[in-house]
Amino acid sequence: MTDTEIQAVLQSRLAAIRERVTAACKLAGRSDKTVSLIAVSKTVSVRVAALLAELGQVDFAESRPQQLWEKALALPNQRWHLIGHLQRNKLDRTLPLTAMLHSVDSLRLLDALHAAKATTPLLLEFNCSREAAKNGFAPEAWPQLVEWIQLHPTLNIAGLMTMAAYDVTPEQCRATFAELRGLRDQLQQATGLPLPELSMGMSGDFEQGIAEGSTMIRLGSVLFEDLGNQ
Ligand SMILES: *Cc1c(COP(=O)(O)O)cnc(C)c1O
Repeated sequence: MTDTEIQAVLQSRLAAIRERVTAACKLAGRSDKTVSLIAVSKTVSVRVAALLAELGQVDFAESRPQQLWEKALALPNQRWHLIGHLQRNKLDRTLPLTAMLHSVDSLRLLDALHAAKATTPLLLEFNCSREAAKNGFAPEAWPQLVEWIQLHPTLNIAGLMTMAAYDVTPEQCRATFAELRGLRDQLQQATGLPLPELSMGMSGDFEQGIAEGSTMIRLGSVLFEDLGNQ
């Protein structure tokens, strides 16, 4: 495909997504300015990501640190979010390139971020769907997080993140997202920290995320489907 053809596809997908976001926000009685769209570019090349950036898309995400490094260096004017597991030995290289780290999934990583004096905004990832293969804190672990945060008040914790399970009904997705919002409220109350950000909702469930208060939707396939070989 030519650049023009790819950009036409991206533009029409973006317009369709914006319409759906606006409709979901209206239904939830929210302004659509309260939801930011993060383009998950993990399946596409720098070229395709750059074509989307040219259309005005600012926020991008990658799940693997190495791919974030590559794309963030190629497109330094976009904001790069890391949404997958970060090994502690990749911290130093990743933090300077990362606008927000959505996948803080263990106390060990929190300790390492604290030791590195990280200033990057962080989201605590919770495994609300309770799948064994998934990273993230167990929802039941929240009191330990309160204790940790009270002992380390300097880290920039901005909110929470979760992923719904695959192959579940929209109602089950909503329940997962409602649980994350409830955890946010509990953590906020117990620590006194403002935790405004809720990163929840992907291509298959972003409307449910918005219904439950998501402030960031992470969209991959609905934007980039079939563009992986470009
Ligand atoms: C891949 C990925 C997404 C995007 O998923 P789609 O269903 O393709 O929109 C969102 N969040 C995380 C954590 C991911 O790994």
